[in-house]
Amino acid sequence: MNEITFQSDTTIAAIATPLSVGGISIIRISGEDSIKIADRVFRAQSGVLLKDKKGYTASYGAVFHNNKEIDTSVAVVYRAPKSYTGEDVVELSCHGGIYVTREVLRAVLENGAVMAQAGEFTKRAFLNGKLSLTQAEAVVDMINSQNKQALNAAKAQLDGALFQKIKKVQQDLLNIAGHLAAWVDYPEEDIPVVEEDNLNNSLQVANNTIHELLKTYDTGKIFKEGIETVIVGKPNVGKSTLMNLLVGSQKSIVTDIAGTTRDIIEETVMLGDIMLKLADTAGIRETDDTVEQFGVEIAKKRMDQANLVLAVFDASEPLTQEDREIMLGVNEKLCIAIVNKTDLPNVLDIEEIKQYFKHVILMSAKNADSIHELDTMITDELHLNEVDTSAGMLANERQRECAIRAQQYLQESIDALAYGMTLDAVTVSIEMAIDALLELTGGRITTALVDQVFSHFCVGK
Ligand code: GDP
Repeated sequence: MNEITFQSDTTIAAIATPLSVGGISIIRISGEDSIKIADRVFRAQSGVLLKDKKGYTASYGAVFHNNKEIDTSVAVVYRAPKSYTGEDVVELSCHGGIYVTREVLRAVLENGAVMAQAGEFTKRAFLNGKLSLTQAEAVVDMINSQNKQALNAAKAQLDGALFQKIKKVQQDLLNIAGHLAAWVDYPEEDIPVVEEDNLNNSLQVANNTIHELLKTYDTGKIFKEGIETVIVGKPNVGKSTLMNLLVGSQKSIVTDIAGTTRDIIEETVMLGDIMLKLADTAGIRETDDTVEQFGVEIAKKRMDQANLVLAVFDASEPLTQEDREIMLGVNEKLCIAIVNKTDLPNVLDIEEIKQYFKHVILMSAKNADSIHELDTMITDELHLNEVDTSAGMLANERQRECAIRAQQYLQESIDALAYGMTLDAVTVSIEMAIDALLELTGGRITTALVDQVFSHFCVGK
């Protein structure tokens, strides 16, 4: 349980659905007075007050403000602690118009509720012990998920996969620290001897678990945010055509005149299950044209910054100096050579390309089927299929920083043991590692950190 004592003396309200025209909008009220406030604005057709209703029951009626009916509505009552926030909650569903929704909220606010801050409902859920911090963070991730894996990972986190994993390490370390402290502090008691080999093994196991977890972070990030991808190649090789094939629309200007793709056009596209953050660039070539030069500079920079480089070559022409310049730009990132226009007679020396690129794909950007091989290759190379998103992954920079800190202290304790330092010193490091893990799961957390975590939420969640 976290150490912040929570007492909500306010009842909060907000629009829980997006503020746009739709079928239904929901105004959520949470806090000690939520049912009382809802009874001031809602009149059930049955005449039964909400205060006389059980939890998980719905009433049909209308919302009134200053005795004037605003809209027909369904009020759902949730009674503490069996609600999202752990408090009494009423949700008023009304017609999904922006004006109507705002009027209902206004009625609720003028009858005693205060406007909820961003993430305040989930923050209350966390502070009331309904969710762990990592689960609360998963709520944001779930809302922001743009693809299957990101959603799976968020869902697993919401189900507590990461929390359970960390909790296990935390508990193991607490047992070790407890045993060590007892052994050191009460030598006269009959406490089992601390076997250094066993201690070392246990610390290594904990360390490995954190290490494995940290490895999942980059993959999680790829799922969530996509892979920074750049398409490079001399003019006219088919970069824009490839980009359009990936995007599925005519975003880039495709022409037969070399050098027409001047700007970098950014696009987020799904390639199978992978999200690519794609930048189409002007071809790499030395030129006097200042506009083109600008594009070339950026292209070179992007190639260094990107995590995935798609270097395009034209199968219907021999390799040129410009192609070779690109080949020299290949770095340790995932670079894939795309030999394009294979529908035309092939005059390109593919063997020379293979000397620079580990991965070469022959394709025609004019043929949509070509894309499948690219999808498989990227998935394989980034080992995306090997990642079990349901196993609990670190989801954000905050969690990663805590895990790194835990790992550093664990390493420190392992080293202290190896160098024959006192068991006291080993215990101190283990306790620091436990602290970092407690911070990760929200078991030990400051008010400032809680505020910072929940500031990423939207109002109404
Ligand atoms: P960029 O300058 O590298 O962006 O090249 P574009 O995408 O503008 O393509 C240049 C020309 O090559 C256009 O006329 C395209 O239609 C053509 N092109 C692109 N890919 C292929 C392909 O796979 N086969 C053939 N035959 N033509 C292609």
